[in-house]
Amino acid sequence: MFDMNCCELCPRRCRSDRTVTVGFCGAGDEVRAAKTMLHFWEEPCVSGTRGSGAIFFEGCPLRCVFCQNMDISRRAGNDAPRGDTSLAGTAALADAMTALAAAGAHNLNLVSPTQYTPQIIEALELARPAVPVVWNTGGYERRETIAMLRGYADVFLTDVKYLSPELAARCAGAPDYFETAADALEVMLDVAGAPEYDGDGMLRRGVIVRVLVLPGERRDAEAILRALYDRFGADAFVLSLMSQYTPEFFLRTARASEPELKALRRRVTTFEYQSVADFALSLGFRGYFQERSSASASYTPDFGSPRDK
Ligand code: SF4
Repeated sequence: MFDMNCCELCPRRCRSDRTVTVGFCGAGDEVRAAKTMLHFWEEPCVSGTRGSGAIFFEGCPLRCVFCQNMDISRRAGNDAPRGDTSLAGTAALADAMTALAAAGAHNLNLVSPTQYTPQIIEALELARPAVPVVWNTGGYERRETIAMLRGYADVFLTDVKYLSPELAARCAGAPDYFETAADALEVMLDVAGAPEYDGDGMLRRGVIVRVLVLPGERRDAEAILRALYDRFGADAFVLSLMSQYTPEFFLRTARASEPELKALRRRVTTFEYQSVADFALSLGFRGYFQERSSASASYTPDFGSPRDK
């Protein structure tokens, strides 16, 4: 299915020739990561005490208007300036994986990886990590691409961001987001299986679904939960209900003045978040519920330096 000369790896299926240009996602033919770090702010069963071995990839097929990682999700391309060329190419990526595992990371946490799936599989073949591999995605994935990860990804940490096609179109130009993400989630559940923990409570296999409550959109978040419950039940995955939306990144964009996106200029209220949390609990979901104090740009990694010491 993957052809670098006519890429259809993600649901955009933009058919770009990535050997001469970049796709909608911004990715060319060389895998590029902007940063590696031990990450302590993921869910506790992912970050643990020693940190999750995060590798942040450049580019993104979804490109939400409020993206917290926009410094790197919009930075990509064969000719884009880069700070550290050692994070380009499959051999360097394999080395970065090995280094993170050697630094004590509980797992390898591949953040926004979709556009580089074949190259990442190649790097995993080289590195053969002894720790679980986490596929950390915005959820806009093709079933076929997720199926390629059987034997490579152990944990899926996936967003389900929008139910309403209008909201998904407004925020990400992807009106088909929910049906696409739900179909991909079905394959993730098949590949990773039911949640399985080690003796320290770290997730060894399974799926975590992140639902971010957006300001002004609590009904959409509840509709996501209802639709996921109806299709998969409450026990198939771990829920992570997030309140960490922060408008700082959206306010930097040219679209910040659009009236229909007005709610995105503020944080989510306690009432909004709590309403959705109560609804999730009433459906029987279990997992992680966030403190509202986590809605701060200071929880976003500094993408100015490629590696944290
Ligand atoms: S991964 Fe990138 S290049 Fe490939 S189809 Fe998606 S947007 Fe296009």
